[in-house]
Amino acid sequence: MSKEAYLGNPARTAEVLNKFGISAQKRYGQNFLIDSNILEKIVKSAGITKDDTVLEIGPGIGTLTQHIANSAGKVICVEIDTKMIPVLEYTLSEFDNVTVINQDILKADIKGILAEHGAGSAKVVANLPYYITTPIIMELLEKDLPIESITVMIQKEVAERMQVGPGSKDYGALSLAVAFYSNAEVKMTVSPNCFIPRPNVDSAVIRLDKLKEPRVSVKNKSEMFRIIKGAFEQRRKTLTNALSHSSAYKTDKKKIEDALIQMGKNVNIRGEELTLEEFAVLSDILSQ
Ligand code: SAM
Repeated sequence: MSKEAYLGNPARTAEVLNKFGISAQKRYGQNFLIDSNILEKIVKSAGITKDDTVLEIGPGIGTLTQHIANSAGKVICVEIDTKMIPVLEYTLSEFDNVTVINQDILKADIKGILAEHGAGSAKVVANLPYYITTPIIMELLEKDLPIESITVMIQKEVAERMQVGPGSKDYGALSLAVAFYSNAEVKMTVSPNCFIPRPNVDSAVIRLDKLKEPRVSVKNKSEMFRIIKGAFEQRRKTLTNALSHSSAYKTDKKKIEDALIQMGKNVNIRGEELTLEEFAVLSDILSQ
């Protein structure tokens, strides 16, 4: 692409924002990348080739999109902010492999969009809006979507939370879902200086490779995740108390105690002490 059209630096980003009379919208979590080195590394971390279709969530003014479009066969971008659409038409005009869709990713029919564009499967790449990182990742993991991998810039703290196991204060529904559905690897940490405006937190790029089959077998995975949600709603309580008072999964105390005894566990155990495998066993016993 031409040098003038390239967006990955502060001066050009400011110029494009000025040209269209727009500024970063906090309510949409807009922090634009301005570091060409980081942009390169994100695309490299995602392992994109010309055989790939990439689904980019939140292209913004198109900075990361330009890099993805250079490496991928096809790029489908979903952007919620209508004001970005004319900007993207301008900044991506040199590419013929990019489609921009003006929708909220949480309401979009991702499966339908990919099918419509002839994509048997896709890799997700994004600098995510931090205010909805968890719902987006849960949606991408839980729904039966033809997605191979998810390489995303997120808050560093959330990236760390995704990778922890039992016993950590950060262990919870998100780390269990990530472990159930994927192999996760933090690729790099990123300073606030790489964005306009600067976010208040450090960031990290994490890659989740979706497993062909979930990591553990369980009879009813949605029931297991309701149990997990219930267990962590009040994480300081014992599992029996948390579940018998939970809104996500309510069952009587005796049933949970019997299940824990059957598993050879102490009835006063807390949910945060159970592994993914143990949640699966518990779920299978409770749904018998
Ligand atoms: N990709 C650009 C970059 O790296 O410079 C912008 C990233 S910015 C952190 C997040 C982007 O996600 C913004 O463009 C924002 O408007 C968009 N966004 C926020 N909520 C969204 C949603 N629910 N669906 C789709 N896009 C959304």
